[in-house]
Amino acid sequence: MIKRSFIGLTKPMLKYEALDLKTPEPTIIQEPKKVSLFLDKTYGFKDTILLKIGDTVKTGQKLSVSENSDAYVISTVTGKISSIETLAGDYGKTFTSVSIEVDENEEIDDQFKTLAAEPTLDSAINFLSGVPGKPAFKIFSDPEKPINTIIVNGVDRDLLVGTNQYVIKSDIDAVKNGVRILKKITGIDNILIAVPQNMMQDAIGGGAQVVTVDSEYPATLPAMMMQSILGQILPAGQSCEDMGVCFLSAEAVASIGTAIEEGRIPSTKTVTFINKDGVKSLASAKIGTPVRNIINAFGVTLNEKDRLISGGPMTGATLYSENFPVLADTDAIMIQDRDNIPFISDYPCINCGECVRACPANVPVNMLVRFLEAGQYEEAADQYDLYSCIECGLCSYVCVSKMPVFHYIKLAKYELGRTTSAEATNA
Ligand code: SF4
Ligand code: SF4
Repeated sequence: MIKRSFIGLTKPMLKYEALDLKTPEPTIIQEPKKVSLFLDKTYGFKDTILLKIGDTVKTGQKLSVSENSDAYVISTVTGKISSIETLAGDYGKTFTSVSIEVDENEEIDDQFKTLAAEPTLDSAINFLSGVPGKPAFKIFSDPEKPINTIIVNGVDRDLLVGTNQYVIKSDIDAVKNGVRILKKITGIDNILIAVPQNMMQDAIGGGAQVVTVDSEYPATLPAMMMQSILGQILPAGQSCEDMGVCFLSAEAVASIGTAIEEGRIPSTKTVTFINKDGVKSLASAKIGTPVRNIINAFGVTLNEKDRLISGGPMTGATLYSENFPVLADTDAIMIQDRDNIPFISDYPCINCGECVRACPANVPVNMLVRFLEAGQYEEAADQYDLYSCIECGLCSYVCVSKMPVFHYIKLAKYELGRTTSAEATNA
């Protein structure tokens, strides 16, 4: 087993930007005429489809597409289903998209309200897995991976993003409720809230022990926090959950608190909007709202060849359409001007070693990249620590040859994951 310390040879010099002392109010994005809700699952001809075009749905109603699957979405609006289709995401990922034409006369589904009076892990799994922040409740019901610690992440994983800092500053009472409910439904008492040093006072009312994280990127990635907060080094290829630790975003915990306290399922996502000049603002939009509506609300014109990104500058993924909706875990939308898009080349690696010096997981990136370029993924994993990578993106950022190293790594992990699941299915 490969074990790596997350201390690089030279420390990365990128700093997280703290949210302004005066909490900024998010721009409220008007409810769209149509929302698109995504299920992380697709369906075949043999599946029994439970929804059809023309069905009417209420706000808060649970929508399951197939009775053969426990995947679902909660409708964030009242209206009529106008399409159900399969869409492709990045790295071959596929979704089922359910689009709903919004009716102005909102009706609230009250099935969850009854369950909220006596919250259980089952009701959370069955109704709250798609709330803003997207808490992964199923982790708590896996007997083979018992969780003993929950870390509420009050800092955002990528640079320029301030979504979870905003939740800590503006809604600490909801976080406190969420912490209380999590303790009750999971039986886990060891819950910590992680924030930057300057937000300790904001987090104190959250009902859990407050710990601080460093301000240098990538200190807020879970693998780094495992080491800085808990003193545990994540072995290559293992997840935090494998080691009994679950990370939930502050927004997810606040959403759980609000849901149980008010008996309704939250549907409004806080999103950091990063403009072409790098200036960031906050927006509040219904899950399912097209990204275009956020861009328009800030008066930004998207020109041909500008780049639209879901996420932050280090680890975000390109979106190919302004119609892509805000999802439960969309923490940021970023636009890069066509004249400022970082150059990516097909120049070869010159073995300068910059990536090795920057890598917080001490991966021999200069060697790894040679195997990734050649599509030799298994060799990359066996010999050059592919699975020690914590996906911070610093290697791409510093690469002198401007190679898309981080994207090679993500593609390799995706391809190896696909092979492993195909082998497990055929076994
Ligand atoms: S993305 Fe690159 S720099 Fe970051 S951990 Fe992985 S290999 Fe290292
Ligand atoms: S920074 Fe780029 S060019 Fe330099 S060793 Fe790493 S991959 Fe090669």
